[in-house]
Amino acid sequence: MTNTQKLNIGISACLLGEKVRFDGGHKALTFANQTLSQYVNFKPVCPEVGIGMSVPRKPIRLVETQGDVKLLDSRDNQLDYTDKMLEFSTRQCSQLTHLNGFILTSKSPSCGMERMKVYDEEGNLQHRKGVGLFAKTLMQMHPNLPVEEDGRLNDAALRENFISRIFVHANWHQTVAQSDQIKDLIAFHSNHKYQIMAHSYQAYKNLGKLVANQQKLDFDTLKQMYFSQLMQSLKNIAGRKKHCNVLMHLQGYFKRDISAQDKQELNHLILHYRQGLVPLLAPLTLIKHFLKLHPNEYLAQQTYFNPYPLEMGLNG
Ligand code: SF4
Repeated sequence: MTNTQKLNIGISACLLGEKVRFDGGHKALTFANQTLSQYVNFKPVCPEVGIGMSVPRKPIRLVETQGDVKLLDSRDNQLDYTDKMLEFSTRQCSQLTHLNGFILTSKSPSCGMERMKVYDEEGNLQHRKGVGLFAKTLMQMHPNLPVEEDGRLNDAALRENFISRIFVHANWHQTVAQSDQIKDLIAFHSNHKYQIMAHSYQAYKNLGKLVANQQKLDFDTLKQMYFSQLMQSLKNIAGRKKHCNVLMHLQGYFKRDISAQDKQELNHLILHYRQGLVPLLAPLTLIKHFLKLHPNEYLAQQTYFNPYPLEMGLNG
């Protein structure tokens, strides 16, 4: 996957500014509309309009009744949209095989991916552990798909994490998903090693073992196991400590090539990054500079250096 190819991202339609909410409004997400739109093709879905509800419409909510969670009219329990919504969601999600990620609207009984309010039949709040019915179907049918909510994307670390995951997801589908060649999986793992390490050192080791023991599994099973573990592990936030570990590994490649002074400069930058005094780009840019002076094919292939377009300005 090159950083110039556009990814396909599903999105709750109201986040794109479409006036489809129950009150006739929208919930336009600036990051999606102004930044992400330059790099992705959005596929908007409004599940409530999809099941034939009007705009504007009466609000609906999640109600727990006899162990089931249903999607009911907020004022009239007889108006039950559960079956329609589940049928629409299953049909819609079965057609979403080409997506690299999905951005959902928080606090919606249809699109909310977590912490949704769930009521009892009398209208009393029971808990906030619900999941919107469309979101639940989406995550069950596509467990490896990167999924995030609009509110969480305002957090810099969660936003960076989501963007990293959608690009890895796209890389996988570009190079390995359709392949029957073990060499493609080996190359993918090799190129993503340091990016994986930045999210989880344990996953880096486990995935390496999985690829090394490939002869024990048929290739489709191996790919399925690898991809599932990979996408789960990438949900771990790549924090400063983990990045420093990766930077130290990368530094090791130049130990014979660079002067003591250059080594010291890089050490200082890594330390300053760890202390939060400079952004990740500072030590990374110096390592890239060393890489230009002392080419190393293996390192040059690492997605860690360019996990997504630099212009997205996400490197903290
Ligand atoms: S949150 Fe989902 S169901 Fe509600 S308006 Fe937005 S897209 Fe439609």
